[in-house]
Amino acid sequence: MEPILSLDGKKALIFGVANDRSIAWAIAQELHRAGCAVGFTYAGEALGKRVTPLAQSLNSPFIEPCDVADDAQIERVFSLWKEKFGTLDILIHAVAFADRNDLKEHYYTTSRAGFHLAMDISVYSLVAMARHALPLMEGTNGSILTLTYYGAEKVVKRYNIMGVAKAALEASVRYLASDLGPKGIRVNGISAGPIKTLAASGIGDFRAMLKHHEKTSPLQRNVSQEDVGKSALFLCSPLASGITGEIMHVDCGYNIMSTPAIDETPEKAE
Ligand code: NAD
Repeated sequence: MEPILSLDGKKALIFGVANDRSIAWAIAQELHRAGCAVGFTYAGEALGKRVTPLAQSLNSPFIEPCDVADDAQIERVFSLWKEKFGTLDILIHAVAFADRNDLKEHYYTTSRAGFHLAMDISVYSLVAMARHALPLMEGTNGSILTLTYYGAEKVVKRYNIMGVAKAALEASVRYLASDLGPKGIRVNGISAGPIKTLAASGIGDFRAMLKHHEKTSPLQRNVSQEDVGKSALFLCSPLASGITGEIMHVDCGYNIMSTPAIDETPEKAE
């Protein structure tokens, strides 16, 4: 497939590929197709075995482990990147984690440890990455992109602590956009509709959620990894040069609907 725009000569660092169903993997493929060199990090050796061949299939020049809960590992990755490339054009943050037990019943049962864990991995990691990316992105018209979900805005049953973490993540996008804007760096988020991935498997009753979205969304389908990948490419490209601090819904329009769909045949236009 022909790229719809060129990112020739640009370099992206991607956090959050676990396997070939990961949203980050779809983003990596779109960036690569547009001519961007794509580096990867992975969370631990077990995932490294899956991520390495994927990264190699895109001729990736950079494949490193990084647990984002560990400041030293984040620092190591950015200093290796600096040594190797000097600058960074695009940073993708597609990382989230919460204890499965906190995504089952009620939000009020969230433990202090579970609350801290979800906020640390899913929100603070973006702040830490942005801080490390800043000196590498200055003067590059750099772009930082994260992934969020509608549960940040409205109550989605069983999303619980992740909804609260995504709300903090979306606020972080705005604060980071304000901080980094004067340096020419844009910070945005994509609020993706539900997609069957490893992370999604931890959310209770995910299948029902997919069905509900398909039925309710104006486009009458669920969003795909590729849908999100293409929108990510747009937001990270010069086509979006005037967009920062924005949360863009890529959800087949689900968020505009106020009530669940009821079975009805659309009236024919006269
Ligand atoms: P995924 O499981 O493929 O990706 C989640 C990634 O987070 C994995 O690569 C995992 O290794 C990484 N991660 C977790 N803990 C980590 C740690 N301590 N250090 C480093 N990495 C760690 O699932 P996905 O659905 O592609 O998720 C990517 C992003 O998209 C997440 O932020 C998720 O909340 C968001 N999102 C997903 C959906 C969906 O329905 N799948 C919808 C909207 C937003």
